Amino acid sequence: MAAAAPVTTFATAGGATLSPDHYVDVAYEEKLRLWDEVKADPRFPDYLYGCYECGICVAACPSAKFYNFSPRKIAQAAAREDVELIFEQMNDDVWNCSQCFSCNRCPRQNSPGGLITILREVAVNNGLASSKAALEGYTRIVYKIMTTGTQVSPDMLQADAFPDWGPGVMEVSDNLELWRKALPPETLHTTSMSWQVDDKTLTELYLIWHYTGVMDLIAEVDEGLHMIILDVMEETLEEAGFEI
Ligand code: SF4
Ligand code: SF4
Repeated sequence: MAAAAPVTTFATAGGATLSPDHYVDVAYEEKLRLWDEVKADPRFPDYLYGCYECGICVAACPSAKFYNFSPRKIAQAAAREDVELIFEQMNDDVWNCSQCFSCNRCPRQNSPGGLITILREVAVNNGLASSKAALEGYTRIVYKIMTTGTQVSPDMLQADAFPDWGPGVMEVSDNLELWRKALPPETLHTTSMSWQVDDKTLTELYLIWHYTGVMDLIAEVDEGLHMIILDVMEETLEEAGFEI
């Protein structure tokens, strides 16, 4: 009996595991439509000027050291307008980027990390299944930031929530009390918030997220999360005299 073909998988920064068969293939016309959406982004002309294929971005890229991932391939696919490969990357490679922008040292003035930002946004905007899978690991963080206006508190750094962070997160979660004391702002020592955001700022944030379509993006990615965040938002906005 012939051995089964190996399936290549990779862990995303959010801890999800994807494989090439994880996403659904679509007609070429749909791939072309997605690519046109990427190119129509006003940032696109600043992020791609062609590619020397020199590999400097790969040498600078931390994700390339740990994953089967190359910013050079992202830039090349975009420069060649390889619609099939770009669709594949949108469902796979782009979720391996840590958005550090070390690749901006490109001698051709490209920004592969910037291209990836656009590719990710188009993937999310169009509800690609791979974007949902990649963002699953961030649900708690998205909820925390969008309801409180604050970032991750030390309590959230649990190894089971961030398996992809390796031994570093184990060390943090084993020594949470120590870390809380080491963090300077008083409120970082609490279990719920990094710092208190006043009601006026929170109201403004909620309105921005509502009117700029961020909430629609959340609904595309995770309907349950969207409902929970909307509940919290509506209550605060109602108290402030806004109805959305
Ligand atoms: S994107 Fe820039 S750094 Fe990367 S291979 Fe192309 S020219 Fe070189
Ligand atoms: S932004 Fe992404 S592609 Fe660029 S160096 Fe960082 S991880 Fe690599």
